[in-house]
Amino acid sequence: MMTVRTRADLAQLPLYVPGRTIEGAIKLASNEVSAGPLPSVVEAITAAATSVNRYPDSAGTALIAKLAGRLGVTTDEVAIAAGSVQLCQQLVQATCTTEDEMLHAWRSFEAYPLVAAVVGASSVQVPLTDGHDHDLDRMLAAITPATRLIFVCNPNNPTGNAIPGDRLRAFLDQVPAEIVVVLDEAYREFVTDESITDGMELLREQRAKGRDNVVVMRTFSKAYGLAGLRVGYLAGPAELVTALRKVYLPFSVNSVAQAAAIASLDAQDELATRCKEIAAERGRVTAALREAGFEVPDSEANFVYLPLGERTPAFNEHCLDHKVIVRAYATDGARVTIGTPAENDAFLAAALAFTG
Ligand SMILES: *Cc1c(COP(=O)(O)O)cnc(C)c1O
Repeated sequence: MMTVRTRADLAQLPLYVPGRTIEGAIKLASNEVSAGPLPSVVEAITAAATSVNRYPDSAGTALIAKLAGRLGVTTDEVAIAAGSVQLCQQLVQATCTTEDEMLHAWRSFEAYPLVAAVVGASSVQVPLTDGHDHDLDRMLAAITPATRLIFVCNPNNPTGNAIPGDRLRAFLDQVPAEIVVVLDEAYREFVTDESITDGMELLREQRAKGRDNVVVMRTFSKAYGLAGLRVGYLAGPAELVTALRKVYLPFSVNSVAQAAAIASLDAQDELATRCKEIAAERGRVTAALREAGFEVPDSEANFVYLPLGERTPAFNEHCLDHKVIVRAYATDGARVTIGTPAENDAFLAAALAFTG
């Protein structure tokens, strides 16, 4: 029998590996919030279910208007998509051809090299420093005439640490203004360190300097607890947003997701309470792990990272034996989501019993 022909270059492309789900185990592998959607949002989701016979508003008019108001930009400077991973893909599609390069740190968000590969663009990866920070000087040095797009994940997934505003500002000042810089702030709502400047502030500062190449990307999947509904958004230059709309798969953000996102933006008090609790637990888990002798970079996100090197696979298996699912990255380290206090206790009990 003849086999179908697919793109030869896809043979080299690995599949995205989502966090594992195992019946009866505590899942701390995907940076979800354990508490569910914000309480007041569940009602909006239920109400929206009655109109799913209609197509969603493909332009996302109401949600985009609300986001634009919130972010202090115009509606033609805001894009939404089915999760910020879809925005990542659109950003590559809108800026890169197979001749071009996108640049990012490594380790960082696993989707970056995958979306580059789908378009056929090259993904240039600059290793983190020994202290697990973005090496911004080396990233600047890695810019070539083919560079079209730079992703800066802040706080970084999976290491959790964030780039202080003064360092990021100096970096942005030096990137050529025709290269798009995406500040991926999927975890912005969990940031408590005041030296970590809000990306929207940096975007405005760059504009005041006559440069309009900064994009701030966020999601409803993490702090807002809507991972299963798929909504992400970004703010950036209008020309780029127009290009993103051209590569948008129509109707990607469904009507229930749009309603839930709008309701979530109205629940800022519930969001603040939740994020405060998670940040407090993050502090408790970090302290307990350090006390037990683990190295843990300062996290500004809803997870912590254990750079265990060669011991990572054994740690992963050990946690699974204790019915806790963490996210292991080969022989680099393990990322552990901050869950409820009880879930965190279960993880800490497992971690403290690790002798590998
Ligand atoms: C989780 C995550 C996202 C995207 O999530 P979506 O569910 O697609 O919105 C984007 N960037 C980083 C760094 C993430 O960790």
